[in-house]
Amino acid sequence: MMLDYYNVLDLLSSEERQVQSVVRDFLDSEILPHVADWWEKADFPTHVISKFGEMGLLGANLPAEYGCPQVNNMTYGLIMYELERVDSGFRSFAGVQSALAMYPIYKYGSEDQKQSYLPNMAAGLTIGCFGLTEHEGGSDPDQMKTTARKVGESYLINGSKMWITNGSIADIAIVWAKDDDQIVRGFIVPSDTPGFTANKIQRKMSMRNSITSELIFDDVEIPATNILPEAKGLSAPLGCLTQARFGIAWGSMGVLESVYYDALNFSNIRSTFDKPISSRQLVQDKLVDMVVDHTKGLLLATRLAQLKDAGEMQYQHVSVAKRENARSALNAARSAREILGGSGITLDYSVIRHMLNMETVDTYEGTHDIHTLVIGRDITGQNALV
Ligand SMILES: Cc1cc2nc3c(=O)[nH]c(=O)nc-3n(C[C@H](O)[C@H](O)[C@H](O)COP(=O)(O)OP(=O)(O)OC[C@H]3O[C@@H](n4cnc5c(N)ncnc54)[C@H](O)[C@@H]3O)c2cc1C
Repeated sequence: MMLDYYNVLDLLSSEERQVQSVVRDFLDSEILPHVADWWEKADFPTHVISKFGEMGLLGANLPAEYGCPQVNNMTYGLIMYELERVDSGFRSFAGVQSALAMYPIYKYGSEDQKQSYLPNMAAGLTIGCFGLTEHEGGSDPDQMKTTARKVGESYLINGSKMWITNGSIADIAIVWAKDDDQIVRGFIVPSDTPGFTANKIQRKMSMRNSITSELIFDDVEIPATNILPEAKGLSAPLGCLTQARFGIAWGSMGVLESVYYDALNFSNIRSTFDKPISSRQLVQDKLVDMVVDHTKGLLLATRLAQLKDAGEMQYQHVSVAKRENARSALNAARSAREILGGSGITLDYSVIRHMLNMETVDTYEGTHDIHTLVIGRDITGQNALV
């Protein structure tokens, strides 16, 4: 049963709750039992991808005419919740595939591009990644050095990208680069194009279930038809990030649920000084903070989905929910680790894995502080970002 202290699920339709429960059962039986081993080996189990496709977890909120399940955004959020409850790496995989690779093709692509890529991506047969961040700093993407030079009927792409989820397993990369007029444009770049290299980033202590790569483009020549015609300017990739951050706002609450139950169960079993530690006020204080933060975060995410389904969601609404929910899940994971004492540092429980993953989630897709400045700019009219 989903942690739901305020009966938030009662606000949802029976179809939405049904999808959530089916996805939870699937992940609990097929993914959860193996997740700690995969995390320890720092590998992404690619054999699950087609299964995710069959289950309708990829591009779930995109239209059926492109082979996607076309669920509403509330249901999409619940899917992200369930994926991340298991591990942030799986939500990252599905979130990047859906919101950062399929969505830009859907939103900014030509009809031909949509027909050729989206059905295979929904099925998990074509894997995508999203290359925006560069070595010089992710918070300021306008500084990008990657270029796309028009040469006849082709574009020549040169430059590099850093920290790219799915980079080494991707069949196509959505690459953001500046054109001859210094305008940011989006390109569909097949990863088998000569000059395209993906180097897997090693020694990660976070998101070990997820592939993260550096991408290098050395005179990568793609046909001019691979440009996303409607993506002009930095607002295009930022529009994709708004979609992905929506998923993070939901997914983080899945993490909070997981670490809370580990901490609650452990505290009921663990006795010191002849009493279960759950009877101690200091431990209860931590557990209560977790339940309260989960309740607040679930309400935020639910309202955000209602706004998105009504077509009223603004990017600053998403900043509030991403910032708040990622940070509260990170804090809860740290607190749960503390309640588990020494047991909290092994992979026998979920807490250290989630805690380390959440260090990434708090940072990527706009750091906590960058979202603070985005919201600050919105409410004061003063831009403290630049
Ligand atoms: C595991 C992982 C997966 C990722 N996947 C992708 C992906 O698929 N595609 C992609 O394009 N990117 C991806 N990223 C990149 C991610 O989005 C960036 O790491 C993030 O945007 C932060 O950029 P940075 O790491 O370069 O830090 P920086 O931008 O260098 O920031 C460093 C610190 O400075 C602070 N800071 C920066 N500017 C300001 C300011 N104006 N005022 C106050 N403080 C400031 C930040 O808050 C942060 O604390 C991923 C990152 C990770 C770790």
